[in-house]
Amino acid sequence: MNAEIDILREMGVQFRCGVEVGKDVTIQQLRDEGYKGFFVAIGLQNGGRLGVPGEDAEGVMPGVDWLKTVNSGTAAPLSGKVVVIGGGNIGADVARTAIRQGAESVDLYCLESREDMPMGEEDIALCEADGVTLHPGRGQTEILSADGKCSGIRFRRCLSVRDAEGRFAPTFDDADTETAECSAVLYCIGQRADWKDLLAGTKVEFNRNGTAKADPVTLQTAEPDIFVGGDAYFGQKFVVDALAAGREGAVSLHRFVNEGQSLTIHRNTRHFTPLNKDDIVLPVDAYKKPARAVKGTDPAKVRTMSDERLIFTPEQIRSEASRCLSCGRSVVDTNKCIGCGMCTVQCKFDAIHLVRNMGDAYSKMVPAEDKFKAIGAYAAKRGVKIVKKLASRK
Ligand SMILES: Cc1cc2nc3c(=O)[nH]c(=O)nc-3n(C[C@H](O)[C@H](O)[C@H](O)COP(=O)(O)OP(=O)(O)OC[C@H]3O[C@@H](n4cnc5c(N)ncnc54)[C@H](O)[C@@H]3O)c2cc1C
Ligand code: SF4
Repeated sequence: MNAEIDILREMGVQFRCGVEVGKDVTIQQLRDEGYKGFFVAIGLQNGGRLGVPGEDAEGVMPGVDWLKTVNSGTAAPLSGKVVVIGGGNIGADVARTAIRQGAESVDLYCLESREDMPMGEEDIALCEADGVTLHPGRGQTEILSADGKCSGIRFRRCLSVRDAEGRFAPTFDDADTETAECSAVLYCIGQRADWKDLLAGTKVEFNRNGTAKADPVTLQTAEPDIFVGGDAYFGQKFVVDALAAGREGAVSLHRFVNEGQSLTIHRNTRHFTPLNKDDIVLPVDAYKKPARAVKGTDPAKVRTMSDERLIFTPEQIRSEASRCLSCGRSVVDTNKCIGCGMCTVQCKFDAIHLVRNMGDAYSKMVPAEDKFKAIGAYAAKRGVKIVKKLASRK
């Protein structure tokens, strides 16, 4: 991260940390400072409410808020039994962190059945290996407390999570209930963007789930100089989606601040048609690759805050690399490339190399590293000629 930040700095990006836009500085003030375009990617910082009686008891809080305190080193040590609510990857992160922060036991409850838990098999296995007890198919009904402090939580059985149209509409069996004794409830049931006054006074519109509305290709909002991306636009997604949106946002901003550019021409509309694996003509077996390499575990790091996964061995790296389908996502347009080599020197990670794969079919060009070999003889010949010429003038 630090290396990447250094590179961005070197490229001219200025970082202003500890500044809350909308409070410490407004979009209008930034416009007055001369900024002509904005990319707003504030993520989903608000852990929301649990929505059951008693949720204001001490010890009940959104899992993401608690994780922030762990990350900043300000979390109070956990003691006693902890209940985590939410069967997604964030629930898994919170439950596994609670184990590491001293909880006596961690029980994770969610509406979905075990097969449908959004965290997937990998996180389920990691949770169980850490000692988290999973309770799928349960929905919370009430927080119990003593002297204002959380002392337990009641659940009822969840019969189904979605209706026939696939909409979130859980149904419950009120006769099938259980009570869990606990001193803390950390809930991870979906985050929302916390816009506060960031976009106050702008024309930006919002969806019902709190994400900002924007053109799906250009990411431009109803306020022409404001573009959005990442979780605050998509809703809860992944880092890779946020990065992709950042890239598209940069293209839009570049065009927006340069007069006369179209925001839409030659943009990637990202309309992918998924391969129908049941109706395939290609010999799928020919594309069979080695199985995904499995990382080993360092026993000394299990249930610590260090990553317990071992790095791949050289053999595993080779095997993983051979799984690449060479789909050719990075493409040089051969109709445009003039072979100038600028890209090879611009890439800070030295990831681009210019290789002549047609011998000297078109010219006597040689790679830069071999230039002295190639020009040495010519330079010597020219040198002798020049010396002779100078001598003859005398
Ligand atoms: C616990 C957890 C685990 C996750 N694990 C994974 C994972 O393993 N893999 C994966 O791909 N994804 C994971 N995700 C999802 C991933 O973190 C997000 O999809 C991604 O970070 C979204 O990027 P973003 O840039 O939109 O927002 P964020 O990364 O959330 O960044 C938003 C930034 O905006 C700042 N900000 C907010 N409001 C303001 C304001 N008013 N003024 C100035 N700055 C502001 C915030 O401080 C923050 O720096 C996880 C998420 C969580 C919560
Ligand atoms: S910068 Fe790279 S891709 Fe672009 S023309 Fe030069 S060699 Fe080709």
